[in-house]
Amino acid sequence: MKVLVCVSNVPDTTTKVTFTNDNMEFNTAGVQFIINPYDEIALARAIELTEGGKGTVTIVNVGKADTEPTIRKALAIGADDAVRIDATPSDAYFVSYNIAEYARDKNFDLILTGRESIDYNGAQVAAMVGEFLDIPSFSIIKKVEFDGSIATVDREVEGGKEIINVSTPFVAGCAEGVAAARIPNMRGIMSARTKRLEVIAALESGQSTRIIKYEVPPQRSTVKIIPADEVGKLVELLHSEAKVI
Ligand SMILES: Cc1cc2nc3c(=O)[nH]c(=O)nc-3n(C[C@H](O)[C@H](O)[C@H](O)COP(=O)(O)OP(=O)(O)OC[C@H]3O[C@@H](n4cnc5c(N)ncnc54)[C@H](O)[C@@H]3O)c2cc1C
Repeated sequence: MKVLVCVSNVPDTTTKVTFTNDNMEFNTAGVQFIINPYDEIALARAIELTEGGKGTVTIVNVGKADTEPTIRKALAIGADDAVRIDATPSDAYFVSYNIAEYARDKNFDLILTGRESIDYNGAQVAAMVGEFLDIPSFSIIKKVEFDGSIATVDREVEGGKEIINVSTPFVAGCAEGVAAARIPNMRGIMSARTKRLEVIAALESGQSTRIIKYEVPPQRSTVKIIPADEVGKLVELLHSEAKVI
């Protein structure tokens, strides 16, 4: 089985988000970048499906050279090789178009993404890649099992789950439950240095979106603790300060 795992390079979850260039750009100064956590889950499942000589796992990232530590980490976790499509990812359409055009003639059986990136949170790439390649795509995926070339895929839906049978190739946007993320071991870290990381030029897709401005959410107000025996005060504050009653 040939699996392609799409990996996004995202700010660490503890990052204090600030903006620069008149609030038009995310300020990357001093920010630590990591593999998007949902992509780690997708990668772990890809490795489970292919280990023991059952297939190969290729990583694809749309990004500039500064994303290579993240790609190398994915190789250290266990992917076989990687491709970096050399461009600043300007929006989900551009990213998806480039991933799809790369994958088009490579006969991948399965394309895995995360359910969403934890920076821009678009949750768009899985569906767009499927659309560009004219193959089925599913998200939010909690389980992917195979019986030959037929897969059973569990999708999270409002209040329950949807269980789908689908034949390869297809795209799945993975969430918690698909697999447990793996930590690279020393052997993996050493071998990642020599694994193939191909850099290819990006294709122009035309800009379909444009950032107008970023804003941070308003500061949360401080919490007031009201003792349990002062119910009257609580009611008064809910009325006069919180203005909810
Ligand atoms: C107008 C605009 C301007 C932007 N400008 C910049 C910028 O200047 N610099 C910058 O770094 N980003 C920028 N971004 C974000 C960048 O384009 C995102 O990578 C892209 O929009 C996908 O994010 P998403 O939240 O839609 O992905 P989602 O659809 O939420 O991601 C789902 C999955 O898709 C895959 N995926 C997402 N992005 C990538 C990727 N780049 N490579 C491989 N797989 C991926 C991952 O598996 C991920 O889990 C911009 C986005 C927009 C909309």
